[in-house]
Amino acid sequence: MAFKFSRLVLLMILWFGFLLSPVCHAQANANLAASELAYSCPSEGLFQNGQARDVEWRATDNGVAFVEPKSHCWIRVNLQRVQVETGSPNYLLFSRSPMLSSAFYDAQGQLIDLTKFEGSKHAPLISGRLSLFPLFSLAPGPLYIKLDSANPTFDERVMVKTPGTLEALGKAQSTTIVLTVLAATGLLTSALFTASFGIALRDIDFGIYSLYSFFIGLTLLAWDQVDAFGLGNHYGWLWQLSAPLATMMLCWLSIRFGQFNQYSVVAAIGLKLFIAFNGIMLIWALVALIGVPVGSMPFNRINYENWQDVLVGGLIMIGGLQAWRRGAKDGLLMFLSLSPSMFSDLVNRVWDPAVAPFLHSSVGITFPTQFNQLIHINGSLTWLALPLVFCFCLARRTLLLHRALIEERKLLEERVVERTQDLHLANKELELLAATDALTGLVNRRRMIEWINHEMDRCRRTKKPLALCMIDVDNFKFINDNYGHPTGDRVIAAIASVFKEVMRRTDIAARFGGEEFLLLMPETDETEALLVSERLREVIAAIPFFSDNGYPFALTVSIGVTLFDHGVAHDTISNILTRADKALYSAKHAGRNQVIFA
Ligand code: GH3
Ligand code: MG
Ligand code: MG
Repeated sequence: MAFKFSRLVLLMILWFGFLLSPVCHAQANANLAASELAYSCPSEGLFQNGQARDVEWRATDNGVAFVEPKSHCWIRVNLQRVQVETGSPNYLLFSRSPMLSSAFYDAQGQLIDLTKFEGSKHAPLISGRLSLFPLFSLAPGPLYIKLDSANPTFDERVMVKTPGTLEALGKAQSTTIVLTVLAATGLLTSALFTASFGIALRDIDFGIYSLYSFFIGLTLLAWDQVDAFGLGNHYGWLWQLSAPLATMMLCWLSIRFGQFNQYSVVAAIGLKLFIAFNGIMLIWALVALIGVPVGSMPFNRINYENWQDVLVGGLIMIGGLQAWRRGAKDGLLMFLSLSPSMFSDLVNRVWDPAVAPFLHSSVGITFPTQFNQLIHINGSLTWLALPLVFCFCLARRTLLLHRALIEERKLLEERVVERTQDLHLANKELELLAATDALTGLVNRRRMIEWINHEMDRCRRTKKPLALCMIDVDNFKFINDNYGHPTGDRVIAAIASVFKEVMRRTDIAARFGGEEFLLLMPETDETEALLVSERLREVIAAIPFFSDNGYPFALTVSIGVTLFDHGVAHDTISNILTRADKALYSAKHAGRNQVIFA
């Protein structure tokens, strides 16, 4: 199907629309509660003679207040002015960072002893960084919360809300913790597995992915103060170190898997700059944490987190879309996986104040509290969606590697077959060479003996005759001595070519010695053998030879002929050769240039 950009835009609008309603819904409730809260950070104590001093109170932003590094802050909650929803008891939800310690004071500056509520039906619920107070268990009037920050580097955040029923909140809280622990354990486990894959495959990306999962897992645990590693209660430092480190790896993995270097250079450069920036953050945090007074960051932690989400997420989305449009398949996954978190970020920051009431009242769908909460953990969406995508990319890469290996094996097998065939041909050639006489191209002595044995065996079975002629050039020494060895060689070659002409296809001629030849003629009787020999003798005798210096001469051959003897029970090769030799000897003795049968 051809790519249509308009279709994609439509799809994105629908997808964003789907995400929009629950986000706005949750946001509308939060705004309602935030108007009742104010905070102040006086340098001196807040209370004087049982009365709060006249200090500058600032309104919180959506119930959120910030505490400067190594400093303290007060939050004032006006209990009278809190709006109570019909039919549901009102509770105060107090959520603080792990780097903050908190204490509660009444209007006269008296510390409220939370233990006194213990065992009662409306006892405050305190779990990790979340606390839940039943407001009617406290005296009317302003309630003060004092916060002390142990963070040496960043501003710390605290969030106070006045939401609905205890049951819903309790459930949402425990669901969040269970989900977080599940996600963290999943990430830590997958980190372990991926690391071992990386070691097995010697692929650095597996290693980076496993480090990423490991630090995200730790961050999630730290965020909810689940002390799975026995690190103690205050390990906000873990977040401070793991968040920039995980961000660096997230950027790096996105560049690698989205193939941004190749398809989206701008996104790749942006992400690399972010890696460098986070590297500085990491060093800064490390130095601050070991006690060196380097001063605090010029911005608070939550802003850093949000900007990081928006910038990194935005770059990955842009790069992913570009890479996908230019042919990198994983790019679309990068784009889609980040769209929910990016959208909730944008809605929270920019659009919500204007569109929330409209959407909430007309087309907004009311989702359960847990879902609203889930949608609101926008940062976590980035952290959790990308591991899935990276995991998929790694799996895909492994699959491709596997396929390439199979393909390579096939190629290798084909090459082996090809080489084997080559080898086979070479062997045949070598065999031929080993069985051939170089000067004449006839069969050599070794192979001729094999042939004679072979034909004799056949003869024993078929009872057919088999003839053997032994041919020797007469007075060859004379030719060598008078015309030279090269002329002698030419003569040997010329005689060999006569054999090739005269003999039948089934006959085999061999150079048996210097100027001595054998002619093996299967299914040939005495008469035929003598006839062929006589013709050979005549043809050779008629050849006009010339020496190297042009002197003409002629030569003759003597031939001894014999037959395989069916009468002798065990006629052997040495017998038949001896008989042929004897016949040849007789021919020489009888004056040469003749054929003798024995
Ligand atoms: P006879 O008629 O009794 O066979 O006399 P002959 O001179 O041919 O005697 P003999 O067969 O004993 O001598 C063979 C000679 O052939 C001896 C050797 O110098 C020569 N000879 C053997 N092989 C080669 C070769 O490859 N090239 C040449 N030019 N001469 C060879
Ligand atoms: Mg000779
Ligand atoms: Mg000889």
